[in-house]
Amino acid sequence: MSGVALGGNKVRKLEYLLADAKAKGCDTIITTGAAQSNHATITAACCKRLRLDVILVLKQRGVTEKKGNLLLDDLMGVKVVFVDSDHDDEVFTEIERISDELRVAGKKPYFIPVGASVPLGSIGYVDCIKEMMEQAAAQDVKIDHIVCCAGSGGTHAGVVLGAKLFGNGAKVTGIIVAPKEDFQGQVLEIANGACEILETELRLTRGDIVMEDYVGPGYSKPSEQGNAAIRLMAENEGIFLDPVYTGKTFAGLLDLCAKGYFSDDEAIVFLHSGGVASLFAIPMD
Ligand SMILES: *Cc1c(COP(=O)(O)O)cnc(C)c1O
Repeated sequence: MSGVALGGNKVRKLEYLLADAKAKGCDTIITTGAAQSNHATITAACCKRLRLDVILVLKQRGVTEKKGNLLLDDLMGVKVVFVDSDHDDEVFTEIERISDELRVAGKKPYFIPVGASVPLGSIGYVDCIKEMMEQAAAQDVKIDHIVCCAGSGGTHAGVVLGAKLFGNGAKVTGIIVAPKEDFQGQVLEIANGACEILETELRLTRGDIVMEDYVGPGYSKPSEQGNAAIRLMAENEGIFLDPVYTGKTFAGLLDLCAKGYFSDDEAIVFLHSGGVASLFAIPMD
């Protein structure tokens, strides 16, 4: 519900990154992700609003038909370049090639990394927690624990930092939906990079980055628990989660509840980070 396209958590990050691109006089945004990348689609939608050119360099893996996010990309008339490879370095070679071409043509490209998970982007989630705490206080609610998704890590980094700065002691748990080497270290680096940008003396430590793994069969591969969590939310609230991110995150929250991870009197916030377009592309069973 973040006001662009079908919403989702990348909008808050892009608010900062696209402002940076505009401030630097860039005119063409390049980003990357999986074929069904929510991030890529939302980036394209934001660029359309801002009258910036956009090129999506996507891995030709998973669901590559014109469904879900690729349908939305097509409707926006966005240029999609597929790279038929599993390797990130081949994707980056292609991005470099396209960037060079643009520069030769007199354009100024601006590259946004996967998931916009860089320190500047994560500040969008510091804002999110500040707003959340203000809204909770206005309703006399004390938030004890926030559970969010960890895919590329920028959301979790911003949420942890936001909770440190504005959370009145609220704890944060990130639910891992994509396996990464030393994910905790990566989130820590993003969060501390954001501290530098915000010019605060505060620095986080590894102990601040609490993560639980609910990847299941693999990144973007639906899990049984995740699918059940999607149904439970839809049946009870008429709210839709997705098979790649939020379904698994909610499944993690439910499983942690069952295991006694939270105390009975804790007020827990589940951060719904979007992703609904992939419901229409990625088969759940
Ligand atoms: C990208 C994404 C996430 C994960 O956020 P990261 O900052 O990449 O960890 C969660 N939910 C949805 C719907 C997303 O598209």
